[in-house]
Amino acid sequence: MELITSLFERALNLEPPWIVKKIDFDEPQKLLNIYIDFPRGSLFLCPRCGTLSKAYDTVEKQWRHLNFFQYACYLTARVPRIECTGHGVLLIEVPWSRSGADFTLLFESLAMAMVREMPVNAVSRIIGEDDNKLWRMLRHYTEEARTHEDYSSVVAIGVDETSAKRGQDYVTLVVNMDEKKTIFVTQGKDSSTIERFKEDFMAHHGIPETVINVSIDMSPAFIKGIEENFSNAVITFDRFHIMKILGNAVDEVRKKEIKEQEMLRGTRYLWLKNRSNLTEKQKEMLAAIESLPRCNIKTVRAFHIRENFQLAYKEPTLHDFETMLKKWYFWATHSRIEPIIAAAKTIKAHWSGVLRWFTSKIDNGILEGLNSLIQAAKAKARGYKTFENFRAIIYLITGKLDFSKTGLPT
Ligand SMILES: [Zn+2]
Repeated sequence: MELITSLFERALNLEPPWIVKKIDFDEPQKLLNIYIDFPRGSLFLCPRCGTLSKAYDTVEKQWRHLNFFQYACYLTARVPRIECTGHGVLLIEVPWSRSGADFTLLFESLAMAMVREMPVNAVSRIIGEDDNKLWRMLRHYTEEARTHEDYSSVVAIGVDETSAKRGQDYVTLVVNMDEKKTIFVTQGKDSSTIERFKEDFMAHHGIPETVINVSIDMSPAFIKGIEENFSNAVITFDRFHIMKILGNAVDEVRKKEIKEQEMLRGTRYLWLKNRSNLTEKQKEMLAAIESLPRCNIKTVRAFHIRENFQLAYKEPTLHDFETMLKKWYFWATHSRIEPIIAAAKTIKAHWSGVLRWFTSKIDNGILEGLNSLIQAAKAKARGYKTFENFRAIIYLITGKLDFSKTGLPT
């Protein structure tokens, strides 16, 4: 027995005064219980000041540890409370676990690695632990890792929203464009959103004045938020959002026209895609509609106007870009197609931020990429229950956080 306990002491990396007192195999339950103890009169550090004291009394605690072959393993210990002259009665910290945790550090390290790769529900089933404990652990480590983040070198950001819980609520993400990682996640997309980001940004050594480029959609709340909180930032309106506005306009035209033009039935997605992304069948359909003699189908014209706008982004100089956009605007506003005229006017009202793209060359493409990761995470994180859990998953998957400073064994 002596040999076995010392073997376990070494495997658990126990240091004096901690010893393995008893090992108990529960065969029917497939459990291995390891009881850890300390000799009477041992001294422990005050968790606040490090002063050594004897145990005042103890509290029994249990932690899930890494499985021992097919046995689920638990550590049980009497954790001393000490009475420090400066800090009163306090529970001491044990070396195998962080305070308040249900798992040992090694078990948490494994669980965190699993949560990265599969849904929390699945991890919960595999390891046979309540998913609430896993969420709590995930929140703790992502929050802890975020406290070590340093945003002092951030100069370009993208702001975008994603939907949470079947599209009922919105979540706003802020991305560091250069490092391609999420640096802030918050609920809502109103005028206070950017203000909340600024507070958090400064709490992580971010300097609002050094943020030069910001990519956003045309929502007045974001525009106002950036203008009020990031005084040196120049806004670029994300071209994917602009294309979405034009896409919606084309779709509106199609919906109205479908009553007169039977051939438009079942073509919705054809007009929303770029020509190069169409399926073979859609390409044939488009060619057939476009080649109709004296084709005056408004949907086709609207589609061509949308395509033409996109082409401007291929122009070689800022001057050419602006010239092309001006020509486009003239064409669009003289198209006599209401939804297209309205979209063109929206674009005109945000002209400098549309043009800014040529200089900043930033767009929310990164965010769209992150978004698909998040959507996948969301699908996997079914039953994430609270916004805080959802946020933790977003940071874990898209935040490129450094967990090495969190005390998590790597
Ligand atoms: Zn103390």
